Amino acid sequence: MTELSHYINGELVAGTSGRYADIYNPATGEVQAKCPLASTSEVDAAIAKAAAAQPAWEAVNPQRRARVMMRFVDLMNRDMDKLAEALSREHGKTLPDAAGDVQRGLEVVEYCIGAPHLLKGEYTDSAGPGIDMYSMRQALGVCAGITPFNFPAMIPMWMFAPAIACGNAFVLKPSERDPSVPLMLAELLKEAGLPDGILQVVQGDKEAVDALLHSEVIQSVGFVGSTPIAEYIYATGCANGKRVQCFGGAKNHMIIMPDADLDQAADALVGAGYGAAGERCMAISVALPVGDETADRLLEKLIPKVEALKVGPYTSGNDVDYGPVITAAAKENILNLVESGVKDGAKLAVDGRGFSLQGYEDGYFVGPHLFDNVTTDMDIYKKEIFGPVLSTVRTKSFEEALKIAMDNEYGNGTAIYTSDGDTAREFAKRVNVGMVGINVPIPVPLAYHTFGGWKKSVFGDLNQHGPDAFKFYTRTKTVTARWPSGIKEGGEFSIPVME
Ligand code: NAD
Repeated sequence: MTELSHYINGELVAGTSGRYADIYNPATGEVQAKCPLASTSEVDAAIAKAAAAQPAWEAVNPQRRARVMMRFVDLMNRDMDKLAEALSREHGKTLPDAAGDVQRGLEVVEYCIGAPHLLKGEYTDSAGPGIDMYSMRQALGVCAGITPFNFPAMIPMWMFAPAIACGNAFVLKPSERDPSVPLMLAELLKEAGLPDGILQVVQGDKEAVDALLHSEVIQSVGFVGSTPIAEYIYATGCANGKRVQCFGGAKNHMIIMPDADLDQAADALVGAGYGAAGERCMAISVALPVGDETADRLLEKLIPKVEALKVGPYTSGNDVDYGPVITAAAKENILNLVESGVKDGAKLAVDGRGFSLQGYEDGYFVGPHLFDNVTTDMDIYKKEIFGPVLSTVRTKSFEEALKIAMDNEYGNGTAIYTSDGDTAREFAKRVNVGMVGINVPIPVPLAYHTFGGWKKSVFGDLNQHGPDAFKFYTRTKTVTARWPSGIKEGGEFSIPVME
């Protein structure tokens, strides 16, 4: 049985707590590795080593720090296939999707190569008589990040790349369900020239998270995961005086207007609803067609596409649209929610309940489900399902569809399909959701913009990546300087000679 490690001070280090989590192969249900779960003292030791290494790293000029990021990008491209394979093996997503997971993190690293520019301060000449004022961005010290299972490459990089480029040390606590890729990334960063101790990877569960939250050394905590844990981490981290940003769960709605290109909309819904088995915080989980005729025409196009989805292990290559979900518990939760939808009276237009894959009967595969006639009081509407289940809520008007999206407690992503610019513009302006797609189903902003939802999808002020990350991982210091006298009067302009 493979035993995974922590990554401390530039080395893979075995766990000493005696506690482990099982890492499953989601396609077969077999345990493929053991992940050590750090004790408080292991976390504290990792933090202490990070704190010892950080001042020297902060003293390295930003351009040289950026060069480490440049080499890191090259090394990830060199090892892309290996990274994607390791990611698929633990997560279950298809290989192209796993490579995309790495790629969207890599793009944030590319953005961080601009650190010298992004860290430039501000300067006011002659703010008063003989007074100049300047602001600089300084590193926080040691920062921490706690990340979810569904993007084990991208989300850690969204955090540690800007933190490190800003001159901080970073302690990452990845998901204990798929922790191998973060270890590989840490090794690549070392190969790229990152000094030991600047990126520590501590595997663990609540005990490790609590150690980070209660450490007096940790200055900031970034979290991505489910909303109840986001609320806990935000409250505890803030109470302990840390800078905290937490990104939580989602329920993303797509409005389909009567004038939409329904072929495009149906294709978009299939990709955005079922890609990665629906285990994406930006997955579309609710379709809001406007008018019964639109709904009927949409479903007519959607049903055969959903029925044709190919579900299987990543080892089947490009022939698979999505893989298994992450654990047996996740599968059970999804199927229970499907049953609740049926019991509550929603119509199961595509029923994936009997799905089984020959040779993989013990894997966590869930067939695609499509619900029609869902209402907003049903659990399948209210709860984040995080599985391959799309719910259709029929609406009578744009206003009704918009109100449903706006009344939902989550506000991560949303989309509208329409051929009318005025409707699209009004939707983008009014909707209380952080990331909006217009004829784009998964509007994940690129690295140089920022990523973040609204409402219960976020706790904190600044978004992830883009310029916000450079604000989150630095503190501003403003200096007001006056020099009352100088050497001007007494300057000597002829070459000194000995008397
Ligand atoms: P999760 O909340 O179960 O776990 C996230 C992290 O928190 C993991 O590292 C885990 O070890 C840790 N954790 C779990 N329970 C804890 C506890 N009781 N105390 C302290 N730490 C704990 O989330 P997940 O299942 O890994 O990921 C799926 C969730 O993440 C979904 O809700 C999804 O919407 C959300 N997500 C949100 C975004 C976003 O940007 N808003 C992005 C990706 C995923």
